[in-house]
Amino acid sequence: MDLREIGQRLGQSVKGEIIVGESMKKHTSWRVGGPADIMVLPAGIEDIMVCRQFATAHGLPLTVMGNGSNMLVKDRGIRGIVLKISRGFNRIEVRDTVITAEAGALLPNVSNRAARAGLTGLEFAVGIPASVGGAVAMNAGAHGRCMADVVDRMAALTGDGNTVLLKREDIGFTYRKSGITNKGLVVLTADFGLKPGEPEEIMAANKINLEKRRHSQPLEFPNAGSVFANPPGQWAGWLIENAGCKGMRIGDAMVSEKHANFIVNLGMARAEDILELITRIKHIVMKKYNIELELEVRVVGE
Ligand SMILES: Cc1cc2nc3c(=O)[nH]c(=O)nc-3n(C[C@H](O)[C@H](O)[C@H](O)COP(=O)(O)OP(=O)(O)OC[C@H]3O[C@@H](n4cnc5c(N)ncnc54)[C@H](O)[C@@H]3O)c2cc1C
Repeated sequence: MDLREIGQRLGQSVKGEIIVGESMKKHTSWRVGGPADIMVLPAGIEDIMVCRQFATAHGLPLTVMGNGSNMLVKDRGIRGIVLKISRGFNRIEVRDTVITAEAGALLPNVSNRAARAGLTGLEFAVGIPASVGGAVAMNAGAHGRCMADVVDRMAALTGDGNTVLLKREDIGFTYRKSGITNKGLVVLTADFGLKPGEPEEIMAANKINLEKRRHSQPLEFPNAGSVFANPPGQWAGWLIENAGCKGMRIGDAMVSEKHANFIVNLGMARAEDILELITRIKHIVMKKYNIELELEVRVVGE
C-alpha cells in the first residue's frame, strides 16, 4: 500500500482530518522537522481508537503528539502515522473543584478556565504551551509545581485498544517524566483536583507567572522550552551559561542569549543543526563540570 492508499483507507473510518506528507515544521514549536507520512487530526475519541487499531493491523509505527512543544523531529521526518491530538478533542469541563480536560485541550486554557471558576492549583501551568496529554506524559511543571501535584487521575488507551483509568500513584510520575510513553499509553482525559480560591487572586498570580516568562525566556524565536533536564541539585541553564555556551551557533540554531537552556531557531535551523549544538553543549559541560546533561526534549523521526 502506498501512502495515498493508506490515507484513503484510513479516511473511510476516520471523521477527522488526514494529511499525507505533512511537514512537521508546521506542527512543532521549534519549526523544524521533515514530513510525517500520514498525519491524523482526530475529531474525537473514536478516531484515536481507529488510528491505533489501523496502525497495529497494518504494522505501521504510530507517533502520538500534542502541541509539539517538546519535540525535535529529525529532518527526514516520521514514518507511519502521526496522531496529533489537538483541537478535535479538547473539551474542558468544570464540576465542583475538579476540572476534566480532554488530551487535546491546551494547558493555558485549562489554567485560565480554573481561574475563572475560582479554582486554585493550576497557576503554575498558565504559560506552559502544552496539550493536556503532552503535559501529563512529560509531567510538565514550573515554579516548583508539576502535573503530579494536580492530576488526580486520567483515562488512557492501552496498546491493545482498551480504556483504563489510572490514579495519580499509578501514572508513574517522576521529574519531567511519567510511565505513559514506556507503557505505550495514549492519554485521553485528565482530572485536575483543585481548591476553591478567589478568581482575582488566581488571575493576578497567572499574570505574574506569564510576566516572569516573558522576562526570562526567548519567546520571540521558535524554541522548545528547556532542552536539557536539570541534573539533581543543579540548573542546566546555569551549567550551560557558565561553561560559556551562550550565543553558540550552528546554522540557524543558537543557544539563547536570554536563557542558556533554550536553543532558538533564528529562521532556517534544521534538526541536524540543533542536534549538533546539543552534542557540543553536552561535551563542553561534561568537560568543565563532569556532569552528563540529559535531554528533556523528545527526539523523534529519522
Ligand atoms: C516556550 C516554551 C516554554 C516551555 N515551558 C515549559 C515549562 O515551564 N515546564 C515544562 O515542563 N515544559 C515546558 N515546555 C516544554 C513543553 O511545553 C512540555 O514538555 C509539554 O508537556 C509538552 O506538551 P505537548 O502537548 O506540546 O507535547 P508534544 O511535544 O506534542 O509531545 C511530547 C511528548 O508527549 C507525548 N504525548 C503527547 N500527547 C500525548 C498523549 N495524548 N498521550 C500520550 N503521550 C503523549 C509525545 O509522544 C511526546 O513523547 C515549554 C516549551 C516551550 C516551547
